[in-house]
Amino acid sequence: MNIAHWLLDAAQRWPQRPALFEGCRQVADYQGFAARVRCRALHLRHAHGIAAGDRVALLLKNSCDYLELLYAIWWSGAVAVPVNAKLHPREAAWIVGNAGARLIFTDGGRTFELPDLPADCRELPAELLPTPAGAADGELREPWPCADDELAWLFYTSGTTGRSKGVMLSHGNLIAMSLCYPLDVDPVQGGDAVVYAAPLSHGAGLYNFIHVRCGARHVVPQSRGFDAPELFGLARELGQVSLFAAPTMVKRMVEQARRQGYDGTGIKTIVYGGAPMYLADLAQALDTFGPRLVQIYGQGECPMSISALSRELIAGREHPDWPTSAASVGRPQACVEVRILDAGGQPLPAGEPGEIAVRGAPVMHGYWGNPSATRATLVDGWLLTGDIGFLDSRGLLTLTDRSKDVIISGGSNIYPREVEEVLMQHPGVFEVCVVGEADAEWGESVVAFVVPRSPDSLDPQVLNQWFVTRMASFKKPRKYLFCTELPKNSYGKILKTRLRQWLQDPTGTIADR
Ligand code: AMP
Repeated sequence: MNIAHWLLDAAQRWPQRPALFEGCRQVADYQGFAARVRCRALHLRHAHGIAAGDRVALLLKNSCDYLELLYAIWWSGAVAVPVNAKLHPREAAWIVGNAGARLIFTDGGRTFELPDLPADCRELPAELLPTPAGAADGELREPWPCADDELAWLFYTSGTTGRSKGVMLSHGNLIAMSLCYPLDVDPVQGGDAVVYAAPLSHGAGLYNFIHVRCGARHVVPQSRGFDAPELFGLARELGQVSLFAAPTMVKRMVEQARRQGYDGTGIKTIVYGGAPMYLADLAQALDTFGPRLVQIYGQGECPMSISALSRELIAGREHPDWPTSAASVGRPQACVEVRILDAGGQPLPAGEPGEIAVRGAPVMHGYWGNPSATRATLVDGWLLTGDIGFLDSRGLLTLTDRSKDVIISGGSNIYPREVEEVLMQHPGVFEVCVVGEADAEWGESVVAFVVPRSPDSLDPQVLNQWFVTRMASFKKPRKYLFCTELPKNSYGKILKTRLRQWLQDPTGTIADR
């Protein structure tokens, strides 16, 4: 089934329900949303010859146009290629070329210097264009028929460790992922408002589907991105707000909420994921917002749908197991199986860490034009995530690290995440990131990059003392490097590769390499 049927269905059931909002201003009801999408789909077909299976890229900040274009692409049977709007035009052009996109929509239609784009790709502005003559009455009244396994979304990975790859997500993958949401993450009602404060090209955009299916409101902040005071204003005004936020966004929301005395009124759910949330930060978020948090773990290759940690487990701080439950990423979602594999690909028993493997309906069909990467990642029907973790006897999955980030020092595995958790509990630490550095004696040694809460408030002895009273000393950092900021990509993930490069060539400031 073409996932755009969910929009047609919502427009038929609830034509007058408010659908699209810019800030608090309604710009379309469901009938209007679907009508504009059809009009854009006809435009794609008649003005630009877009046919089923063609790729159409989007390099846009969040907007209602973005949502309309996504659905127009699917309505016409084509494949959407949402590109991170913060990429340099050259990086975006590489993705366009790799995907073989015929069109790219940008804000204003003038982002690229002509030689940057492949010759057979045209750049267009995202604003609604008139339907060209030539469309027959009743043409595309319904979305173009697509089978479940037909491609819908080419999801380019954030590429924190190398060149990004195009994950092939089908209509069936997106439907399965979306159906897990009300079961495992949060039930959705028509009165809900999903606010897109994180990029639509990534997790936030993937959450649009279930909200269309349930006839909820879709809200693009006027800032077109993340601005905590604006978000709190929207929540107060609109009510029943839910949003997807990376842990760094949650941390900024907490700081801002504390400054202005905001307690989460109007927010129904904050779904966080995409990077580790440290216990110290989670405790502060609960103190500030109460039981409004749910965690998900996923990756482009199994979008948003590997596991979920429920609101109840997150909020149940009185339970003696809270520290281990809250540090986990929860239980496998409804349509996936999770296994932990050893280096030879054999399943490991509860409690033993190994590579996390996933099988189920949301798992990608492979990497676009990259059969060797596909073969290495999809093995015997299982997706090898590249993440290391373990399942405990309660069925909770705990992520220790990306396999590439594990530090092997003196023959022992050290998981940066557990070192980071301990350092983050120190009241003077604002942010921390731990990586391995080549070491002639130990193979690798542990290095901690630390952002203090206030400048010059910490020194290595203090942190060392803190550490050795809490964790085995073979895991202790050999070096503490203090900085004002950590390098992050636009999805809020810390770029460990950059920190490792900086260790090899320590010129320039740490954050802007
Ligand atoms: P991406 O494909 O860009 O969404 O990145 C996916 C990766 O982010 C995963 O493979 C994990 O390493 C990490 N990740 C996703 N969700 C979580 C989470 N809840 N906690 C910790 N790391 C996560």
